[in-house]
Amino acid sequence: MVAISRSSAAAAGIIAASGIKGRTVTTIPKDGGLTDFLRSIISIDKESSGGGEPFYVLDLGTVVSLMETWSKSLPTVHPFYAVKCNPESALLGSLAHLGASFDCASRAEIESVLSLGVSPARILFANPCKPESHIAYAAAKGVNLTTFDSADELEKMSRLHPNCELLIRIKPPEDGGARCQLGDKYGALPDEIDPLLAKAQSLRLSVVGVSFHIGSGGETGSGTYRGAIEAARAVFDSASRLGLPRMHTLDIGGGFTSGPQFEAAASEIRAALDDYFSGEPGLNVVSEPGRFFAESAFTLAAAVIGRRVRGERREYWINDGLYGSMNCILYDHATVKCVPLAVASNGLDPKCEGKPTFSSTVFGPTCDGLDTVFTGRQLPELGVNDWLVFPDMGAYTAAAGSNFNGFDTGRILTHLAYTVDQS
Ligand SMILES: *Cc1c(COP(=O)(O)O)cnc(C)c1O
Repeated sequence: MVAISRSSAAAAGIIAASGIKGRTVTTIPKDGGLTDFLRSIISIDKESSGGGEPFYVLDLGTVVSLMETWSKSLPTVHPFYAVKCNPESALLGSLAHLGASFDCASRAEIESVLSLGVSPARILFANPCKPESHIAYAAAKGVNLTTFDSADELEKMSRLHPNCELLIRIKPPEDGGARCQLGDKYGALPDEIDPLLAKAQSLRLSVVGVSFHIGSGGETGSGTYRGAIEAARAVFDSASRLGLPRMHTLDIGGGFTSGPQFEAAASEIRAALDDYFSGEPGLNVVSEPGRFFAESAFTLAAAVIGRRVRGERREYWINDGLYGSMNCILYDHATVKCVPLAVASNGLDPKCEGKPTFSSTVFGPTCDGLDTVFTGRQLPELGVNDWLVFPDMGAYTAAAGSNFNGFDTGRILTHLAYTVDQS
């Protein structure tokens, strides 16, 4: 019972947050509630508008518990949520309400965070190579913290936003087998660091710390963060050797995945901070998690809009695909999970428990052959107007969808839920 009242209290706070206020938030039980909620959306949509359009469910209860996990495991590391991962306003609003700050990479991302009433002091313009007009915008709005890894960026900052505080982005020694590597694109190399610090000094720019990103979607907990934190320590030392004002901010970037791996990454980070930075009183440690807060909070439902039977094989067309939410298969090198929701053909048991399965291929709606979600997976027999439900679809999905071929996946609606534990 305690669990219910605690969660409900959190829900009460969160539903008044900007980005959420005015939208319907449905409270659902953690066990089994989601399936019933998906079914009710499908049948209400069918009555009101003919239905059949794909949709997301964002579980704000998941966002709250992820923030609790973060605060427990990394209490000294303040998160700046990386907006590019998923800019849904209810996600941004709930994170703002829970005390997070924001990593923005462009003018539009800064605008969307400011429009929620978030102070510019809670924004890190974490893009080492920014268009000049976006720098001028940040200066006008009072966004006063950014990253750089080149001499040209320092020249731009000196002309357009000379009072901005800077973090030097370094390339971490290892990428930890990340699915999406960043080290070839961003991060100063070891022999570039001293010249960059000296150049900042000569331009009277203020370099207040170091940032890195180990790459996204890797197996963490294997020494990657430790190596990067050790490299950052060396940059703090170079800065004092060169006579720069004492650095005070360490930004450990993103690369976190929720679940058991998170604790492994967190304990590696705690130990490395202790080993390399315990002698830095007042050190401000920040991070830029994207995937951690977005991935497991969103579930996608897409309808079966076509079927072809070829002997024992089944082929289905659904109304979202690689040019929409499943662009994560291409760009994020993701593998999507899915479960059936056979509301049209097996409404009494839409999960089709115990039913025979067939080797099945699922295509997206566009006429491009590339638009194939998966091939040869076992699924029960489905029909047109049945649904497929894709869990953990919040990271690098809707954010990069397109309207290619007239299927406008940028417009997929998000319904808000708040799961509560009733045990
Ligand atoms: C994409 C990105 C992030 C978020 O990375 P995750 O792996 O999703 O946590 C953080 N910082 C920067 C600079 C990024 O480009």
